[in-house]
Amino acid sequence: MEAEDPFNNALTQLASITDLITIDNEYYEMLKSPRREVIVALPLKLGDGTSVTFTGYRVQHNNARGPYKGGIRYHPSVTLSEVKALAMWMTWKAAVIDIPFGGAKGGVAVDPKRLSNDDLERLTRKYVSALERDIGPEIDIPAPDLNTNPQTMAWMMNEYSRLHGHNVPAVVTGKPIEIGGSEGRAAATGRGVAICAREAVKKYLHSDMKDVSVAVQGFGNVGSNTVKSLMEMGAKIVAISDVVGGARPKGPRKYFEQSFSTLLEASNKLGSVSLIPNVDQISNEQVIETEADLLIPAALENQITENNAQKVKAKIVIEAANGPTTPMADKIMERRGIRLVPDILANSGGVLVSYFEWVQNLNRDHWTEEEVNNRLEHKMVHAFNEVVTLAEKDGIDLRRAALVLAVNKVVAAMKLSGWH
Ligand code: GLU
Repeated sequence: MEAEDPFNNALTQLASITDLITIDNEYYEMLKSPRREVIVALPLKLGDGTSVTFTGYRVQHNNARGPYKGGIRYHPSVTLSEVKALAMWMTWKAAVIDIPFGGAKGGVAVDPKRLSNDDLERLTRKYVSALERDIGPEIDIPAPDLNTNPQTMAWMMNEYSRLHGHNVPAVVTGKPIEIGGSEGRAAATGRGVAICAREAVKKYLHSDMKDVSVAVQGFGNVGSNTVKSLMEMGAKIVAISDVVGGARPKGPRKYFEQSFSTLLEASNKLGSVSLIPNVDQISNEQVIETEADLLIPAALENQITENNAQKVKAKIVIEAANGPTTPMADKIMERRGIRLVPDILANSGGVLVSYFEWVQNLNRDHWTEEEVNNRLEHKMVHAFNEVVTLAEKDGIDLRRAALVLAVNKVVAAMKLSGWH
């Protein structure tokens, strides 16, 4: 079957709440299309002498509530449609977690694993110089996403600063700590996901994390930090996967008994979690179908679809990735009584701590990790409760409740600012 179009899915989600709110058609139309879509050609002479032209994107969906904000991904399958969907989701995410940002996203269609470090640095610098007028601390603030990291952000900050003749740390977030990054930013998304998991377990399973089993799809920055926080809470991890494959622990207990650092070290050394000793190797598909209380997709879009939603065994799905569940799968799982904590709430801890980083940069300040984590905890729990309260009041699922909350805030800002 043809892959689902992410932007169509984002539009279907938006359409699913129009009967729940009073929204003038004029504003609905404005929300359906991003304000700006920038596509740039990035010609690059690689270290091996060949010349390749990559395509770079930056989509700015809405900035009624503040400067555009969102990550940049490097992946061979990046398309305009994907970046548009991700940009729209960023608008909702910033509104749900209640930070003064709009939504944007960027990407380059490239397989970074096939480029040398030098080539990647030059590609990153080209991307920034091509988009120099489109980004800025008060305009649009990029951050890491799939296959980009603090080093990528350091190059971006340096290139932008070089072009402007002075140091501009607030132009990107997710930087290394040494050059203005925030304590706690690297772990923030996973930490926030685990906080949502804990709150959902309390609310819907009336249980403690120590009694809960979890399957996690994805072991990149978000997946691994989610596992780390969940293990700290005492949850039992029964399946993990990465791009290579998945693993279920062998033995009577059927959960990973080693410490998180042992697990991470082994997977780094061997190249995949699926290769660590004493596990049954499983596919990424099988992770989705694992017998566990919680399922946490922390990889890519379109992982839970109409083809496998029927086979999900978890009681609660927590979306650590952006857009892992298609609208059809949403319906199937809702019918089956499976709760779903949506991406725009569950993974908003990342952009939240990005906001903290930006505030620290603008104030030339540096907060302790404890301060960052306390603020993260407080904001995540507050947003979770707000969404749950609205869902109960209106008798709707958590995805629609989070969307109602977000769209109402964004439309209020558009109206007050006189967008028409
Ligand atoms: N890429 C992350 C996301 O999808 C973080 C964005 C940010 O920090 O601006 O939420």
